[in-house]
Amino acid sequence: MKIILIGIQGAGKSTQGNLLSEKLKIPYLSTGHIFRELAKEKTPEGRYIKETINAGYLLPDEKTLSIVSNYLHRAEYNKGYILDGFPRTIAQAKAFENGIDKVVYLKVSDKEALWRLSGRDDVREDDTLKAIRKRINLFHEFTEPVLDFYREKGILVEIDGEKSIDEILQEILSELEK
Ligand code: AMP
Repeated sequence: MKIILIGIQGAGKSTQGNLLSEKLKIPYLSTGHIFRELAKEKTPEGRYIKETINAGYLLPDEKTLSIVSNYLHRAEYNKGYILDGFPRTIAQAKAFENGIDKVVYLKVSDKEALWRLSGRDDVREDDTLKAIRKRINLFHEFTEPVLDFYREKGILVEIDGEKSIDEILQEILSELEK
């Protein structure tokens, strides 16, 4: 099964992604995590990625697409995956027609997300308030059209991300069975 998780930062994508991965026995993959690893490399590319993610900007579609498709060609993703953080733009979604079964939109308000993120104690280097605000704004501008794209395909599932972690997980699981 191929599942995409979409939502603003702080919506609970990695929490649910990891829980789903355990339940469904399929691997979880986050493009944010991949890019944070690449940003550690002391090369011009590593420095470029680091600056981009620390500012909260999106990496170019072409670079993102080639990195994601390289990963997904690995044998461990043969039977499916739970993908978090991709696609984030219409261009990425259109270029990525990969037999996706369901796209789960974890819906939380900007206010709730900011409140949750302010309470985190595992703060990352790219998690300044400015970068978080930028990411949320970019979500509304570039990623909301991606939701419409999958809604039209009939594979979008909208989940109220402000419920408890367990309620959300149960709702996602029951939607995936449909
Ligand atoms: P995330 O952890 O998903 O918020 O991702 C952290 C950062 O990685 C983002 O702010 C972007 O700079 C970059 N990134 C992750 N996924 C994508 C994507 N699909 N397209 C472009 N940039 C991305």
